[in-house]
Amino acid sequence: MDQVLPVPNPTKAYWLSEPHELARFRSTPDLPATCDVAIIGSGMAGITTAYHLLHSNKQPPNVVILEARELCSGATGRNGGHCKVKVPTFAGFTPGPGSSTVDDMAVYVHGIINGLKQIVEEEELDCEFELRRSFDIQLDDDESKRLKRIYDESAKAGSTWTRTVDYIDERFAGQITSINGANTAFTGPACSFWPYKFVSQLLARLLAQHPRSLNFQTMTPATSVTLSEDGSSAIHTSRGSFKAEKVVFATNPYTSGLISQFNDIITPIRGMTSHIVPKQPIHPHLSNTYNIDFGPEKGTDYLNPRPDGSIVVGGGKWLYNSDRPSWFNNFDDSMPFPPQTEEYWEGYMQRNFRGWEESGAELDKVWVGIMGITPDGWPHVGRVPGVKNQWMLAGFNGGGMSMILTVAKAVATMVKEDAGFDEVAGGLGVPDFWGTSEERLRVGKDEDLMVKRK
Ligand SMILES: Cc1cc2nc3c(=O)[nH]c(=O)nc-3n(C[C@H](O)[C@H](O)[C@H](O)COP(=O)(O)OP(=O)(O)OC[C@H]3O[C@@H](n4cnc5c(N)ncnc54)[C@H](O)[C@@H]3O)c2cc1C
Repeated sequence: MDQVLPVPNPTKAYWLSEPHELARFRSTPDLPATCDVAIIGSGMAGITTAYHLLHSNKQPPNVVILEARELCSGATGRNGGHCKVKVPTFAGFTPGPGSSTVDDMAVYVHGIINGLKQIVEEEELDCEFELRRSFDIQLDDDESKRLKRIYDESAKAGSTWTRTVDYIDERFAGQITSINGANTAFTGPACSFWPYKFVSQLLARLLAQHPRSLNFQTMTPATSVTLSEDGSSAIHTSRGSFKAEKVVFATNPYTSGLISQFNDIITPIRGMTSHIVPKQPIHPHLSNTYNIDFGPEKGTDYLNPRPDGSIVVGGGKWLYNSDRPSWFNNFDDSMPFPPQTEEYWEGYMQRNFRGWEESGAELDKVWVGIMGITPDGWPHVGRVPGVKNQWMLAGFNGGGMSMILTVAKAVATMVKEDAGFDEVAGGLGVPDFWGTSEERLRVGKDEDLMVKRK
């Protein structure tokens, strides 16, 4: 693919239905000629990196944030809005080349939940943040048995990820979760929030606190970044070029458009999410978030009940999985899935949730979002391999809300201290197999692996 750039006119996501006043903001009519740090991308990764660069910094660097479309119009404005690690992810964890364990990952994600809550409170962000529990529900008996076996073995071995997870057996799974056909379930810690409001309000705070240091430019795609002899970078955009001493790529699925080494390493894929509204709020309110695994033929949907009684629910991948070009290596979020696929969300709550049969729940919106998937399922964080003064955090697969905040702090520290992943990440508890490197790129492009992925 030549130009991997956000496309114009993306489908309309529920989360973007209340545009922030900064949605199409430009701090200055023209781009500045130079800056200390250019951050490309205004999703969770770009804005929290800016936060960590500027926050509590007596001599903040001059930062320019570029966004190709409107503020936060990528995956962060189009996702499921909850933050957790699924039990199947813990159960399927295979150790990477580093020393971080599955328990380290659990600690890391708990830290993200706490960190998000702290920023929401400190910065007074009105983004419907809720600390919650989340269900992982199995409808398939074999999957129930597999997960229970791994959970028991892990608990017996003293694996600490099991300590905040709770198992619900066949007798009670249907009653406790209210899901028709639930065979077994696990619950674990989670939080949910309105990601667009978190990001846009945090950016508004930063612009108010650092009017001279921060310059935000929407509707400005970076078309290429070139390294100059003096070690700075030239950022070329649709509106001209400027010079940045340092660059952070927070471009998730679009990263290979600017860093070609990430071709076939961070691959854009399309996903589908919807918003469902009952005629009146249903009581009792659904307080947990959900991942419902319908079995091997189908897959897993995710569900985030909103505080107003409506539901954000996404997934349904088995409906389009066999039509590979319609989702794999595809970054077009302007094109809806076909009507027969979107229809899946009609009557979804009535079909699946006990107590919702007479809810009159109706489908409000269905939209498309683009994830960046990686061969090993983990993000790439750190210095752009082999390049001076450029860093990245990208490839968050389907779970960026539970990963980004602390890696953004790590990248901000690397930028400030001119450091690499290994010098910083361990101190912040970032799993060591998330560091990007030439070696990881080589393994990811391994011919055999490429054939398997095709
Ligand atoms: C349908 C869907 C459901 C999801 N559900 C969940 C969930 O429930 N929980 C969870 O944890 N995760 C979920 N995710 C994943 C999560 O949304 C992402 O991992 C996360 O938002 C990534 O944040 P980001 O800032 O890295 O990327 P993005 O939010 O995509 O931001 C990247 C930004 O960079 C901009 N950009 C890209 N290239 C350029 C360029 N060349 N020039 C200028 N700007 C550029 C884009 O326009 C975009 O705004 C979901 C994703 C999707 C698509």
